[in-house]
Amino acid sequence: MADCSKIRKFSGADDYRTNFIIRSEINKFLPGGRHFIDDAEIQRIISQIDSSEVDPVRVREIIAKSESTCETLSPEEVGVLMQVKDEGLFSEMRAAALRIKKKVYDNRIVVFAPLYMSNLCVNGCKYCGFREGNSLQVRRKLTMDELNEELDVLAGRIGHKRVIAVYGEHPDTSTKYIAETIENCYSRQVPAPKSGCKVGIRRVNVNAAPLPIEDLKVLRSVGIGTFQVFQETYNRKLYESMHPKWSVKGDYDWRVTCFHRCLEAGVDDVGFGVLYGLCDWRYELLATVMHARDLERWFNIGPHTLSFPRLEPASGTDVPERSPWLIDDETFARIIVIARLAVPYTGIIVTARESAESRNRVLDYGMTQLDCSSNIAIKGYSDFAHESEQDKERQQFMLGDSRSIDEMVRYLASRGTITSFCTAGYRCGRTGGCIMDALKTGREGKFCKINAVLTFREWLDDFASEETRKIGDELIKKELAEIKEWLPKFYPAVEKQYEATSRGQRDLFF
Ligand code: SAM
Ligand code: SF4
Repeated sequence: MADCSKIRKFSGADDYRTNFIIRSEINKFLPGGRHFIDDAEIQRIISQIDSSEVDPVRVREIIAKSESTCETLSPEEVGVLMQVKDEGLFSEMRAAALRIKKKVYDNRIVVFAPLYMSNLCVNGCKYCGFREGNSLQVRRKLTMDELNEELDVLAGRIGHKRVIAVYGEHPDTSTKYIAETIENCYSRQVPAPKSGCKVGIRRVNVNAAPLPIEDLKVLRSVGIGTFQVFQETYNRKLYESMHPKWSVKGDYDWRVTCFHRCLEAGVDDVGFGVLYGLCDWRYELLATVMHARDLERWFNIGPHTLSFPRLEPASGTDVPERSPWLIDDETFARIIVIARLAVPYTGIIVTARESAESRNRVLDYGMTQLDCSSNIAIKGYSDFAHESEQDKERQQFMLGDSRSIDEMVRYLASRGTITSFCTAGYRCGRTGGCIMDALKTGREGKFCKINAVLTFREWLDDFASEETRKIGDELIKKELAEIKEWLPKFYPAVEKQYEATSRGQRDLFF
């Protein structure tokens, strides 16, 4: 049980709204009042993008720098990449993005599923179906028994090993509840349908509101994976127009300093995101780079992942349809390529908010993680006859890609991409600064390839349809041959673990 004795308690929503934010935990990371999101500099770079011609030599230099160092580019350099309109030059950027992805993450895609825990919320974000006052939403928070029912489907029927647990912001579902639900996720074990082997969730990432340092330490103590908080928009003016002043989320600086507090608290895997469609995408990407560089400066650690949600229709609001900054699929794909070059070591997540076509396309542009068999209604996995069902009044927004995990694994395998269920990195302490170096040098990619094969074997034996298993078996043969060629001395150890996994041992990893 998590020790929550040091965290503050609140008597209700009003007390929480008034007293939750700890001002000193913001100011500490904005020394001298200087802000790491430099609005004037972003505006200057954008006007330069609009007013000058692209220099192909400079673009190629920047591509080469990103590829060879795997270090975060400067905002100025990212601005140069944003100038590229010529298809030929852009295809060079795309090819480099894919090479970087292969160097850092090899040919694998990590899969996960969202798990919505609660839609209670004290905020009023104008684009979100969960906002306080939206009477169309049916409000609930999962009890631990209900959570177990969800896990039985997610881990026991679908075969996910990694979830992103999602919470509205409310005193009844804050740190204590988040910690309890994480612990519950790790403890639930069920038999797999095809093999009878015991299976369960092995990594719980969290998407929740920013927390104070003591609260983050509690989440660390229960084994949180990545802590993900989307800034929504880095543009302060727009941010304030979307998030009312009376709400906790209305405080821009509390949100934008959240990862500084995470790293201070020892939660060293942090996941950034912006809600694309609220503001000029160039502003967002330039600010993301500034944010990453400031964290690197303070802690030598940058974002473990960048997520790219786009505004989707939601219950009781027309903001997602009305925003002047909505982007088309072409622009979306362009953003992924530039992001891959801008922060080369980071994981790139594209969720099922996107259509299947849009996600298939960006697979070649540097995406590394996706969700599938996703349901984002509270208790949707166990209540609905099929996980692809949707109900606008029970979920935050609508999803675009309803592919099941079996379809997704088969599709990826048909392209020569292995689906990884690996969660070893964080359980072996390969997180934070340690994983940053391993990623930049391509070392992590090698570990991951081996662990991807072992976990793929598990999933094929525990859950796959015959058709998927057949194509998966072929891919594994190819992967093992590559591992043997790369690491001939180490290969016998890999083979031993692989054979043990094929005989039904579970959770073997390097
Ligand atoms: N409530 C917490 C918060 O806002 O930080 C965390 C979870 S919130 C349920 C997860 C994310 O969903 C938000 O950060 C936002 O980016 C995204 N979201 C909200 N409304 C959306 C919409 N209409 N379309 C797409 N994404 C949306
Ligand atoms: Fe609440 Fe998060 Fe939705 Fe805002 S985005 S209304 S904080 S659930």
